[in-house]
Amino acid sequence: MQTEAEHAEFLALLKAAQEQVAYLKELGVEGTEKQSTHTTVQKRLTSNEHREPYAPAPRHDPVAAAATGSDTLFGDLSAPPIRIQRSSETFEEIWADIGDCTRCPLYQGRTNIVHTDGNRKARLMFVGEAPGADEDAQGRPFVGRAGQLLTKIIEAIGLKREDVLIGNVNRCRPPANRPPTPEEASMCKPFLLREIAAVQPEVIVVLGNTAMKNLLDIKQGITRVRGQFQDYQGVKVMPTFHPAYLLRDPTKKKETWEDIKKVRDYLDTARKQES
Ligand code: URA
Repeated sequence: MQTEAEHAEFLALLKAAQEQVAYLKELGVEGTEKQSTHTTVQKRLTSNEHREPYAPAPRHDPVAAAATGSDTLFGDLSAPPIRIQRSSETFEEIWADIGDCTRCPLYQGRTNIVHTDGNRKARLMFVGEAPGADEDAQGRPFVGRAGQLLTKIIEAIGLKREDVLIGNVNRCRPPANRPPTPEEASMCKPFLLREIAAVQPEVIVVLGNTAMKNLLDIKQGITRVRGQFQDYQGVKVMPTFHPAYLLRDPTKKKETWEDIKKVRDYLDTARKQES
């Protein structure tokens, strides 16, 4: 026999579920039309598909729940954060769209377009700013001195360079290695975002201010934000110093190591939860 409180709880659940379906529909999530609210609710309550892949199950936070009024018998039913739309594009398709790119002026000084490189099933991705001279000459990201330091950082957490994915906001070398302008970045970034959607890494490490500000809507600088996990459409993002900066100021390596250990620990925990 249902008590009045349970009945009210059930109605609240139903309303939240309907809102959830409407929200998913708005995001263009497939299947929301075909399924009845009941089926969608059941799926939402029993499946893992709205959780981050391999991520620990979200913890119930009674303080946040009380603040949002979402503390119900059935847990937190508030709308999920926007998540990356899964994409089945291949890198070859994305790169074919890039073509012999002349979308921004940086093409004038390039030798090679430097595409994202590495494991296309990577759990971990690194994003830098733009190629330097060595990368421009070889057509691969992070192969110069900063790249060698990045390789050491990757190996320090027990991975090989081939295990991860490495890319840049811009694919052509800016003159004198200056940061790409916002206009230049806005031309190139969509291709990086398409690669991210295709690979769906569990963690993205953004290296330095340019990469961080292009992936995250954030006002503060890297010094303030580094070491704190951020979110890019459901993917964990760890901002840390750019390896080129570490070459100029090696005292900052200690902080970078702290940040990278957090990434390692997150991935280890996620893997344990998965098995
Ligand atoms: N710096 C970057 O940001 N990217 C590279 O590929 C090399 C150096």
